This record gives sequence, C-alpha cells and structure tokens, in this order.
Amino acid sequence: MTATPAWPPHSAPRLHVETALGEGVAVAVDGNPAHYLISVMRIKPDDIVLLFDGRSGEWAARARDIRKRDLVLQCVARTRPLEATPDFWLCCAPIRKGRIDLIAEKACELGVARLQPVLTRRAVVDKLNLDRLHAHLVEAAEQCGRTALPDLSPMVKLDALLRDWPDDRWLFFADESGGAPLAETLPGHPGPAGMLIGPEGGFDPDERAAIRAHPRAVALSLGPRILRAETAALAATAAWMTINGDWS
Ligand code: SAM
Repeated sequence: MTATPAWPPHSAPRLHVETALGEGVAVAVDGNPAHYLISVMRIKPDDIVLLFDGRSGEWAARARDIRKRDLVLQCVARTRPLEATPDFWLCCAPIRKGRIDLIAEKACELGVARLQPVLTRRAVVDKLNLDRLHAHLVEAAEQCGRTALPDLSPMVKLDALLRDWPDDRWLFFADESGGAPLAETLPGHPGPAGMLIGPEGGFDPDERAAIRAHPRAVALSLGPRILRAETAALAATAAWMTINGDWS
C-alpha cells in the first residue's frame, strides 16, 4: 500500500503577509518574498505555500501566475487556527545591533507576545531600527511556525513604562544585584507578566530603586553569574515559558 502524502506538504514554504486571508483570497507577492519563492524555492504552478496574516491562523495557498519577479498565491484551505500566545512581554533595554536582533529572533521563537524596548540611563544605544527588528520577528515567525507575530512596541523610557504598567500584570525584574530565586518565585506568580532586562551596563541605583518600589515588581535572580543582556533576556523568557507559559 502506498502512503498518502502529507497535506499540506511538510516542505511547503511559509510566508507572513499583511493581506487579510480567507478562503479564495488571492495575494499578489513581489519583492524579496517573491524572489525567495521563485528563484530560491523554485516554486511551480499549483505548489502549496503556507500563509499567515497574524489574525486568521495559517492557510494553504496555491501558486499561480508565476512570472520572473512576482506571483499570486490563492488560499484554498485553513490549515491551523490562530494560536493563543502566552501573555508575556519581554521588556529590554536596547543593546548593540547584532545582539538586539538576536533577542528579537529568539524571543519570537520562544513565544513572547510582545517585545517592548525600554530606554534606560546606561543604555549605550538610544535609537532602534524598528523596521529591522520587525523583519527579524517576521522571519523567525515564518521559520518556527507561529501564526501570530509578537507585537513590537515603540521604545519607551523606563519611567513611562513604570507609570503605565497595567495593574493586572507582574513586572518581573531581572536584578543581578540580588533577587528571589526564579524557580521558586515564578510558580507563585501566574498570569500576565513582563520581564524587565537591563542594558550592558545594568540599571543605575535610582532606576533599580524605582523598579523595586513598583507595586507589581518582583525582583528575580538568574543565578550567581552575571549574564550578558541578551543571555539574560532569553534565559528569563525560557524560564517563564517553562513554568508559567505554554511549554508545560
Ligand atoms: N550591571 C552589570 C555590569 O555592568 O557589570 C551587568 C548588567 S547585565 C550585562 C545586563 C542585564 O542582564 C542586567 O541589568 C539584568 O537585568 C540582567 N542580568 C544579568 N545577569 C543577571 C543575573 N544573574 N540575575 C538577574 N539578572 C541578570
């Protein structure tokens, strides 16, 4: 007996699109995504591409009208519903280019709902290219199978973040100068959460005092070693996902 081939094929490329998807919706694709499908993946008429728009789940779409630089992808069936993203915000100070890109890519793979850049006094970088970070989030979501993109919020100053922090959300604060052991503390603090990570130079004493004074703040230790900011951001996210997120 011959095996039934998987449908949609496991090898089908995945693409995020801005167009609202639905049965029969045709999406015109050009630019880099078209180059990737036509020249790199060598897509042929009727081949399946998986599409997601961040709102309606994932769709199998058939390729048609393939030309040199553009093609059309037409939705034929929904393959997955929109995922329920764990309610976790990663709030981190901007750090140097390659490292903040790494945080965006990995945070998306790990499952965060929002990436919130936070400007602090010792940050060595005070501007962020949000378009570039968005592109990293999209690429990571395409690769890891997410059906929803993380929100990417504009950078805010630390005092504004603390002022506007929602009453119903824990503000976990990764404090290398001493905090509660993470593995013992997270289980007692379920529900919506954010994790605040400092820049290369850490938080200054006034910032640390202001964070600790916040009614929703819980200072956490990530162990006895001083981690680089990107290591701390990703390790803390993985720990939260394991204990309070959707890894269990
Ligand atoms: N203040 C330090 C210094 O300049 O020597 C290092 C800051 S560390 C590179 C960047 C951020 O990672 C910190 O602000 C903190 O949020 C987080 N972090 C690093 N190691 C940590 C640990 N062991 N426990 C909790 N947070 C940590």
